[in-house]
Amino acid sequence: MIAVVPVRAGELPVGAAEAVAEAGGNVVLAGDGTDAAAEALTSEAPLLVRQVVCAELGSYAPAAWARRLSRRLDAEDVVILPAVPDGRDLAPRIAASLGRPLLAGAQEIRPAGAVVLRWGGLQLVELTVEGPFVATLLPGSRSVAAAPSGLVPISLAPADETETSDDGAACADAMSLEVLAPDPAAVDLAEAAKIIAGGAGLGSHDEFATLARVAEAIGASVGATRVVTDGGILGHARQIGTTGATVRPRLYVALGISGAAQHVGGIGEPLHVVSVNLDASCPMMAMADLAVVSDAAATLEALADLLGLRDGALVGEHASAEGDDD
Ligand SMILES: Cc1cc2nc3c(=O)[nH]c(=O)nc-3n(C[C@H](O)[C@H](O)[C@H](O)COP(=O)(O)OP(=O)(O)OC[C@H]3O[C@@H](n4cnc5c(N)ncnc54)[C@H](O)[C@@H]3O)c2cc1C
Repeated sequence: MIAVVPVRAGELPVGAAEAVAEAGGNVVLAGDGTDAAAEALTSEAPLLVRQVVCAELGSYAPAAWARRLSRRLDAEDVVILPAVPDGRDLAPRIAASLGRPLLAGAQEIRPAGAVVLRWGGLQLVELTVEGPFVATLLPGSRSVAAAPSGLVPISLAPADETETSDDGAACADAMSLEVLAPDPAAVDLAEAAKIIAGGAGLGSHDEFATLARVAEAIGASVGATRVVTDGGILGHARQIGTTGATVRPRLYVALGISGAAQHVGGIGEPLHVVSVNLDASCPMMAMADLAVVSDAAATLEALADLLGLRDGALVGEHASAEGDDD
């Protein structure tokens, strides 16, 4: 088994380490800036990685990448990509190049098939295939504990001729004219680097409208607890937790959230956690780097004022893109 992780400008996508773990620690990092991505991967999960191959393929061109990678991947029975936009784009092209079936949206990958989610995530279906296949693994499906064989020295294999040279054959790839910064309001929560979330202690529709404006101003995505989504204040897509989205932000700001196990089970391990709550001893405050004992709505209003947000207007110089320094 081997994982293929698409890399853009040295950045690993969400779900990269999980795909590597599912593949037993073997990975081809394909794209631009793969050395930096290899360093990030090995420092994120040092016991996980057994062998990394860095394939410098330049900027994103899925058809050309698939053709070049398929030569190296031909000997692998199972090829796993993370089920994120670039992985979902590249996987069917690799499968077509190799002449194999694609098992998309898997929760678990086995030597002879995969368990995939179907019917909008309501049903788990076990698929069995004869022979080699390509699969995409949903982020949040598994932990990134050490590869089954434990600690094995990392070897950084050099890319070979097939990965670095262009054989000149024509490829039907779209041309990228511009890469736009993601819109934090619309970005998939699973990929958001900064999340500002509200719970029952924040209030109702008015407070969540303010939360959306503050989130936009600081380049964060809006999240919520189940109490909020069940109450119809925000849609289910914004719910974080075991029955909602699994997220992996660097910064998580929790306003009026108690920190129930079903909620914090979905927030990963943020680098920074800020919590605002009247109860200084609730679980969310206990896990915060910065715990503010205060009324959540009043704190949010004060933050909106500091950001220069009045009557729904955004003050331009405060707006920052997702990915800015935390
Ligand atoms: C099977 C199952 C699955 C579940 N899945 C999920 C899930 O995916 N995601 C999820 O979030 N929940 C989930 N839940 C629900 C979960 O157990 C909690 O009930 C929920 O997370 C609590 O949400 P909350 O923190 O907003 O509300 P509460 O637990 O009611 O907490 C409100 C918090 O706000 C504080 N507060 C009150 N007033 C103020 C104020 N004025 N200013 C500041 N703070 C204030 C309180 O001190 C308290 O800490 C699930 C439950 C079950 C049984």
